[in-house]
Amino acid sequence: MSRVNVMLPYLGEEEVEAVAEVLRSGWVAQGPRVAEFERAFATAVQAGHAVAVSSCTTGLHLAMVVVGVGAGDEVVVPSFSFIATSNAVRYVGAVPVFADVDLATGNLTAETVEAALTARTRSVVVVDQGGVPVDLDAIRAVCDPRGIVVVEDAACGAGSTYRGRPVGAGAEIAAWSFHPRKILTTGEGGMITTSRGDWADRARTLREHAMSVSAVDRHASVLAPPESYDEVGFNFRMTDLQAAVGLVQLGRLPEVVARRRELAATYAKFLAEVPGLRTVADPAWGESNFQSFWVEVGEDYPLDREGLLERLAHADVSARRGIMSTHRQPPYADLAAPGSLPNTEHLTDSTLILPLFHQMDETQQGRVVDVLVDAGRSA
Ligand SMILES: *Cc1c(COP(=O)(O)O)cnc(C)c1O
Repeated sequence: MSRVNVMLPYLGEEEVEAVAEVLRSGWVAQGPRVAEFERAFATAVQAGHAVAVSSCTTGLHLAMVVVGVGAGDEVVVPSFSFIATSNAVRYVGAVPVFADVDLATGNLTAETVEAALTARTRSVVVVDQGGVPVDLDAIRAVCDPRGIVVVEDAACGAGSTYRGRPVGAGAEIAAWSFHPRKILTTGEGGMITTSRGDWADRARTLREHAMSVSAVDRHASVLAPPESYDEVGFNFRMTDLQAAVGLVQLGRLPEVVARRRELAATYAKFLAEVPGLRTVADPAWGESNFQSFWVEVGEDYPLDREGLLERLAHADVSARRGIMSTHRQPPYADLAAPGSLPNTEHLTDSTLILPLFHQMDETQQGRVVDVLVDAGRSA
């Protein structure tokens, strides 16, 4: 019996060949493949502009800069997220203000966001947590009239839908992750998408040291024009090696999402009959890619979350504790009053993430289901 992993990237010979082709071309840093990946990604998520970056974390950092968030500003974020969401706010000297999430979706709501707004709020970062689409329109209806920019952390959201369109399509600016834990991977990598051409242009310049002439343009001319650096920029570039992989992966996305939704439906069907377990589900306004398939272990279940994780480990099934509460980590511990984020803490403490990956077969999924069903019987 072999281990069932919580996640496996889905990579094949096409990706190998795409990387080999880039290597043979001799142009390995940001170049034509990155530009091609940006165009394809913008089309896929129905965004006006796409700017490739080195990760979602650097993408969020850059989003904060182009949106104009700076020292002393407040940015409303979910504590219930990977810590990078809050770290991006800190990088620009702003203060994260934690809002609680909805128990059903694990996402911010218009109500929890509104309760966290102050005169100093400059921006709100919403997350499509685990792939579950956030109700962006409802949150923008609260923020837009106040001049507060909503940034979408769509790290987990590629291939999810919101009100019939791809997640991110309705965002002024969104950041995406291509880490192997997400469903489209380039090893490391990320993307910013935005409806605003001026923000895209600024992000494009800032990701490359704020250089007035891009490396690609310099390469195109024998006698390169002199460049200038009008502000302090970054090196947040993606490489053509990564973009080549991303192009192949993007082509697989519909197939990968369809398979994940099929596996999620199987989990939902078998676990619905187990008292005390609740599985993540699509919200009324969209469809999840089920990047993370989580289960809440309730009072009626014979084991608590830790007990169930142990039972799964005994069966060589690698599950994971649910999404973290950022406010419990040392850099953020002074930013939330005790008891102020009850849903966040409840979900962090009572959920676990089950294995789900493209290549998962019926036998593997059956092994996971059996552990949960059997443990549910043995009070
Ligand atoms: C994974 C993740 C990130 C960080 O993505 P990287 O590409 O690894 O920097 C940020 N936000 C959320 C919600 C994530 O899940």
